[in-house]
Amino acid sequence: MLFFDTHTHLDYLQQFTGESLSQLIGNAKQADVQKILIVAVLERDFKTIQKMTALYPQNLYYGLGLHPLYIREHSENDLSLLEQALGQRDRNCTALAEIGLERAIPDLLTDELWQKQCHFFESQLYFAKQFALPVNIHSRKSHDQVFTFLKRISLPKYGVIHGFAGSYEQAKRFVDLGYKIGVGGTITYQRANKTRQAIAKLPLDALVLETDSPDMPVFGFRGQPNRPERIVESFKALCSLRNESQELVKQVIWENSIKLFG
Ligand SMILES: [Zn+2]
Repeated sequence: MLFFDTHTHLDYLQQFTGESLSQLIGNAKQADVQKILIVAVLERDFKTIQKMTALYPQNLYYGLGLHPLYIREHSENDLSLLEQALGQRDRNCTALAEIGLERAIPDLLTDELWQKQCHFFESQLYFAKQFALPVNIHSRKSHDQVFTFLKRISLPKYGVIHGFAGSYEQAKRFVDLGYKIGVGGTITYQRANKTRQAIAKLPLDALVLETDSPDMPVFGFRGQPNRPERIVESFKALCSLRNESQELVKQVIWENSIKLFG
């Protein structure tokens, strides 16, 4: 059985480490990570990501989208270019990502930037509807706001709340709506009690695993860029929180991921 890393910035990991793509994928495969989803941050990265995935179509998938952390940099023209790129996408484009709302950074919460965040999020949710793609959502200190959008704009393919941190009640609301919860490095930290309890209680078929590489380091690897093969650390933490066997957890998580992004 294998792993599917459902949220990475492999393009940024490659630029950061200077390692070859074959090396990065080889390392991942040694840890059973057979498939990796690369999610976009800025419009200018789209072509790089498309070229990377075209080299390894069996292993790499991608999502196109405009990331809320970089809301200042996105323009209306980027939205048009995104729509165009989605219209011409190849079969390895399996998500609208990374999109969402960011409320942990006060600078991005001025009236103007918050309105811009909402406008870009909503526009991209409609693209997900138009092109029938699942979404991979960034939701930081914004679960209520994200939930309101997702409830109002129902998407045919749903998606994932990525790198989830929060309570069982917050997660359950998304799951009841049809969304999956992206389990990342957060649960490898003992102090992340609320999130660990939430992940322990949710139905297994509502979960997928991810690294957010090169971000979100797992416990014991702080100060180093995160890598797809570290998904094993989150998997071990997940198994320690669950009653199911390791084999069953691995199998169900793989099937959830393939159904959504494979
Ligand atoms: Zn990300």
